[in-house]
Amino acid sequence: MSSPHQDFGEQFVRLTLAIDEHLPGYVDAYFGPKEWKIESKQAGIVSLPNLTDRVNRLAADISQEDGLDPQRRDYLARHVTAMQMSLRLLSGEKVSLADEAEAIYDIRPEWKDESNFEEAHKLLEEALPPGGSLRERMLDWKRSLEIPVEKVKELLPIVIKKLQMLTHQKFKLPDDESFTVEFVSDQPWLAYNWYLGNSKSRIEINTDLPLRVSFIPGLMAHEGYPGHHTDLSIKEKKLVDELKYYEFTVNLLNAPSAVMAEGIATSARETLFTDEELEQWFRNEILPYAGMSHIDPKRMTAVNNASRKMGGVSGNAAFMLHDQRKGEEEIIQYLQRYDLSSEQEARQTIRFNSDPLNRSYTFTYDVGYDLLEELFRGVDRDHYFRRLIEEPVTPSQVREWIEKKHQVN
Ligand SMILES: [Zn+2]
Repeated sequence: MSSPHQDFGEQFVRLTLAIDEHLPGYVDAYFGPKEWKIESKQAGIVSLPNLTDRVNRLAADISQEDGLDPQRRDYLARHVTAMQMSLRLLSGEKVSLADEAEAIYDIRPEWKDESNFEEAHKLLEEALPPGGSLRERMLDWKRSLEIPVEKVKELLPIVIKKLQMLTHQKFKLPDDESFTVEFVSDQPWLAYNWYLGNSKSRIEINTDLPLRVSFIPGLMAHEGYPGHHTDLSIKEKKLVDELKYYEFTVNLLNAPSAVMAEGIATSARETLFTDEELEQWFRNEILPYAGMSHIDPKRMTAVNNASRKMGGVSGNAAFMLHDQRKGEEEIIQYLQRYDLSSEQEARQTIRFNSDPLNRSYTFTYDVGYDLLEELFRGVDRDHYFRRLIEEPVTPSQVREWIEKKHQVN
């Protein structure tokens, strides 16, 4: 016997698995009942009109069901809206990138004015060591931070141990959680967390581009503690094991949950450390261990904080690629000019944005980060971070919390 609430989760999961048959990778991770997956494979490709009917019916059922927890209803409804858009795109419909992102991610991205990036450049003028043009200085600085993969492998256990301990102090990590780290190549991303279920993940780090010492704590916070691995393993315990919300046995890339996931991951490092604490860690442990004590951690913070203001450049590149139909060379020049990237990095950005699953994904990082920083401002950050990793949450839900926060103050 199953409750109708459980049925919503099951119907939801079965639909995502059916869409995955059309668009492999749509389901990023699935760790629910094995037979649902087997049955979906056996059913093979279901026609898009049939799937659309089923998704529309589920949307209607969710809106009419009494007694659903409001946050769960909001989560389910907005994820079904995202599914409806994915089906339209699969049917070949042409949709603007902002409309697509609004339906899929529950955010409305906008073109970012270049004056934002120029402001970042001014800060970088101050922060970077002297040299040639600003871009040359940036590329020289990045080169000075490069660290061999072998050294990264030695450093990782130290970094992971500390992040895990600090995360454990603040949030309720499942007792049996753990992850492995593997090094891979030829991928459009820098690192990836594959969630395997039962509180386990496999984190992959891509070695196509040089790794930098400055990345390491932030990267492991993003993918591991208290980012993706922490988020998914706590949600599995709280929402799947305890509440039987089966929609949380599936992790989707093209859904509002992706904004929450990347928002959580991009603000993970700052949830554990202030800039000063991070600098101290670099100065006392990480840099000496890497044999790079000549690097000034204060400069590292200043460059990172300035670089964050260039975050919208990749979103603009997505608008240029998909809406404005600009050629690759023009976009590469734009990226090099405004986010001061190397040609190799710029090509990697375009490669990422060109993937059908990632067309508008790039917005999840910056918009997710900005949204959560607005939520955390002036309140107990850990309290809200905990709610984000323990509850069904969408960007709309966060905007509602922000609204309430302003009413109280
Ligand atoms: Zn991520």
